Amino acid sequence: MLLTLSTTHTPATDLGYLLHKNPDRPQSFELPFGLAHVFYPEASAGRTTAALLLEVDPVALVRGRPSSGGQGGTLDQYVNDRPYVASSFMSVALSRVFGTALSGRSKDRPELAAQPLPFSARLSVLPCRGGESFLRRLFEPLGYTVTATRHALDETVPAWGDSRYFTVTLEGHVRLGDLLSHLYVLIPVLDDDKHYWVGDEEVEKLLRHGEGWLAAHPEREQIARRYLRHRHSLAREALGRLAGDEAPEPEERQETRNAEEAVLESRLSLNEQRLQTVMTVLQEQGAARVVDLGCGEGRLIKALLKDRRFTEVVGMDVSHRTLEIAQDRLGIDKMPDMQRQRVKLLHGSLFYRDQRLTGFDAATVIEVIEHLDLPRLAAFERVLFEHTRPGLILLTTPNAEYNVRFTSLPAGTFRHRDHRFEWTRAEFEAWAARMCERFGYTVRFLPVGENDAEVGAPTQLAVFAR
Ligand code: SAH
Repeated sequence: MLLTLSTTHTPATDLGYLLHKNPDRPQSFELPFGLAHVFYPEASAGRTTAALLLEVDPVALVRGRPSSGGQGGTLDQYVNDRPYVASSFMSVALSRVFGTALSGRSKDRPELAAQPLPFSARLSVLPCRGGESFLRRLFEPLGYTVTATRHALDETVPAWGDSRYFTVTLEGHVRLGDLLSHLYVLIPVLDDDKHYWVGDEEVEKLLRHGEGWLAAHPEREQIARRYLRHRHSLAREALGRLAGDEAPEPEERQETRNAEEAVLESRLSLNEQRLQTVMTVLQEQGAARVVDLGCGEGRLIKALLKDRRFTEVVGMDVSHRTLEIAQDRLGIDKMPDMQRQRVKLLHGSLFYRDQRLTGFDAATVIEVIEHLDLPRLAAFERVLFEHTRPGLILLTTPNAEYNVRFTSLPAGTFRHRDHRFEWTRAEFEAWAARMCERFGYTVRFLPVGENDAEVGAPTQLAVFAR
């Protein structure tokens, strides 16, 4: 089984530094199931290719398995496709042989490790359960150009048709650490098999290697399910945590409630879709300075900071504890100065005028209004539309009509125990229209999440402009 990684970044021989493997010196590594060899078929300034050749020893595999006798199918243990195809063995080899590169680090070229470079990865034989279309659905959303050649089951007997094996090339402009993480996770997903027992720690691995891309991946559910060998409870945990970003801290009531809401909505990963939609509208409108009101643990702030077009991002929340978590999650203390100057967290309340909130291009109020007491809504309305008064306001809230689609939610209850109300689309639109009339804004509405023909989308977003 052969994996090659090529780059045309000049000087391409830097690939040696990125992989921590000298192009002049072929090396071999002993693994529990065989040998991994690393060598460079080509190494010039214009183009360098590193090859990882995996020799899986089928006899060693059987020896390692205590309960292999007596169940029939003995031949199958020795004669199978495992030595010849990319599988979870390849993932293990990647992490053993290219561990530093996989984690996104490089001793001698840290700046290159942090930078997207032109890469092409070629897998000589990749089993794809789900065929070419699933292969494409996995890699294309990550920005790769996919070339796939399907192999016949037996070239001498064309009537037998195609096999599930492909030769696959992925080309893209990516960071090496991301490319290796994508391969690490998605090879066993395509193979839909694992050579070892999948337990709790496999969830941690998936989340660690999926960081930064899995939560927003359109196939994340299939990926989690297959990666975790169809163990439903593990897949549910992984998806819940992807949707909620992190596991809750049990002693914190508020956080437990947030987690309940996240689990309820996790099927849709609504949280991600909400952030994506909000980001897209802000980008389209060219907002550069954004204040996030009721910022919570800073999910939106984190996403905004990844895009340099947002030059200033300020988060405000009434809860000290939440702001501390945000401070931590964003890693503000560890940020380089340049980055730290772009972000600020403020303690404040949406019921009081606050000079610090004025002068921004846009304000976002994401899943906050339903936490406010109805009698105090009037104060909030004036603070937001009259006093803060940004050119653009993005405000989201649950669509109460959609609750009937959450099968685990008892009829008539809210999605979050802390919600004071949840509005139907008509109620939300009527409220927004009153704001426009009173304060001189116009509004349009965008659905977030699956837009059900009957009850609408789970989240409603209002975009107000002056
Ligand atoms: N916008 C975040 C958090 C939503 S939860 C997200 O989408 O993830 C609602 C948040 O509103 C909580 O963090 C809560 O502390 C905050 N909040 C509630 N009442 C507030 C008020 N009066 N002023 C400011 N923030 C408030």
